[in-house]
Amino acid sequence: MPFVHETSNKLAHNRILANPKIKESLSKYKVKCDPGEFTEKIQEKFIDITPLRYSCSSVFSIDSGFDFVPVNERFPSAEVGFMQFSLNLVKLAERSKVVVNGIVNPIEYNKITNAHTHSLDLPIFNTSIDGHSNLTDSIRFKINDYFKSSRTYNNESPSLLDTLYLLLSEDDIARNFNCIEDPCKKQFAAVREKSKNNTMEWKESKKLLKKEDFNNANKTAKCPFCKRELLLIDYLRLHETIDEEFGARGILSRLARVVEQLYPINLIMSILSQKNRLGKDHCLKTLSQIAFILDGPLAIFGEPAKVSRSIHRYLLSVNEMLMDYSLEPLVFFGLTKSGLVVDHVNLLLEHIKKKSLVGSYEKRLPKSKILLIDDEYRFKYIQPKMGSGSFGAETYYGQDIVYFDPNGKPYVINVMYPVDKSSKYFRKMFFSHVSYKNLGKIAALINELEVDIYENALLPIVLAHKYASISLKPGVSSLEDFAKSIIS
Ligand SMILES: [Zn+2]
Repeated sequence: MPFVHETSNKLAHNRILANPKIKESLSKYKVKCDPGEFTEKIQEKFIDITPLRYSCSSVFSIDSGFDFVPVNERFPSAEVGFMQFSLNLVKLAERSKVVVNGIVNPIEYNKITNAHTHSLDLPIFNTSIDGHSNLTDSIRFKINDYFKSSRTYNNESPSLLDTLYLLLSEDDIARNFNCIEDPCKKQFAAVREKSKNNTMEWKESKKLLKKEDFNNANKTAKCPFCKRELLLIDYLRLHETIDEEFGARGILSRLARVVEQLYPINLIMSILSQKNRLGKDHCLKTLSQIAFILDGPLAIFGEPAKVSRSIHRYLLSVNEMLMDYSLEPLVFFGLTKSGLVVDHVNLLLEHIKKKSLVGSYEKRLPKSKILLIDDEYRFKYIQPKMGSGSFGAETYYGQDIVYFDPNGKPYVINVMYPVDKSSKYFRKMFFSHVSYKNLGKIAALINELEVDIYENALLPIVLAHKYASISLKPGVSSLEDFAKSIIS
C-alpha cells in the first residue's frame, strides 16, 4: 500500500538501526556461502576461452524504467504508474570513433545509435480508467491495449500481442490458461484433473480454452464457465498481483521483465515476417548478424514465469532455421549487474587478492576465462538449495556463466540453454560449456563493447539505461527509422 513520502522517510530508518536490540539481532545474521576457504578449489574450475571474431553488424538491447506519480495534490494516495521501455540498436561497424580513451564522443555516439522508446501508464492505487469500474479490469485492458499497439518494426509487423499469441502453443493454453475468477479456476483445475485420469488429449476437452478461441483481432475469448471476456494477456497472470484495496505497485516490475523479454522476440518475428518481401535467406542472415543483449538473466519470475518456456521453445526453433541455412545460432544473452552471482564473483576476486603476495594479484587474476555456474557449484558456494528441482527450473531459459575478460574484469552473463528443457539431453548439455557454441563470440563482443568509464558496463546496456530512465527526456528516432536500420 502506498504511503505518503514512504521512500524518503530516512529518519525513521536511522532510528530503527540505532535501536540496540536491532543491532544485536543484526550481529547474529551470517551471510551464507562465503567462498573464502574454497578460493583455490574454485580457481581450478576456470576454463580458458578464446574470443571468436564474427560478423556482427548490430546489437539490440533493451531496458525499462518505471515510477509512481500521484494523480493530483488533493489525492496524494491515488497513484498512476509510468513505465518506459527503451529499444536500442547499435551499429558496430561504425563504432570505432565513439569511445576514444574511455570517453564517449556524443556526436559519433548519436550516429551509430538508434533508440526508440515506448511508454505506458497504468492505474496503481485508488484510480480507474473510463469504461472500467475496478482497478483489475482497468489495468488488464490498459496492458492489452499496450500489447496491441506496440511493435518493433513497422505498422504491418506483428504487435506484442501477436507475439504472445504466436509464442503460446495449443498445449500451453490448454494446460495453463485459467479464468481470472477464483471459482472458475477451480473448475478449470477439475477438468484438467479429469482429462488426465481419462488420458484424454488436452485439446479434446471442450471445457478448456483452446488457442483458436483467441484467434481474433483483440485476442479475447469467453470463459466457458462464467462467460466473462478473457484476454490473452491473462495468460501472464499479472492480474494476480493486483489488490483492489491495497493497489498494484508490484505489477510494474513483473510486467517490465515480461515485456523486456518479449520485445527481442517481437523483433525476431518482425524480421522473419519480411521473408516474402526480402527472401527468407536474407532475413535469416540479418538475424544471424544481430546480437541480442538483455538486461538481467534470461528468466521470467513470479506469476508470468510460464511464458519463459514458450520463449525458449521459439528461440530454439529460430536456431534450427538458422542451422538449416548453414548459419550460426542466435547470439542471445543477458547481462546481470547485481545479485547473488555478482556478489559471489566480487567476493571471490577479493579473496584472490588477499591470498596473493604483494604485486602478484595481477598475475593471479583470471583472464580470458569462464566459470560455468552449474547447480553443484551454485548450491555449494553461492546459495543453499531450495526445493527438490534444479535451479530456475520454472523461471530461467539461460545458464549463468561468468566471463573474465583479458584484463580480469568479470561479467556475469546468462546464455540461452542449447536444448529444450524436456529434451533427454538437457541435463547433460546445460552444465557443459561446450554446448554453448556462441561463448567465443560473446566474449569477443563483450571485449569490443566494454566502456571503461562505467564499471563493467557494455555500451548498448549503458545506452538502454539512459533512454529507459523516465526522468530524462529522450530524443529518440521514429519507429520507422529504427526499423530501417535493422534490415538494409
Ligand atoms: Zn470464468
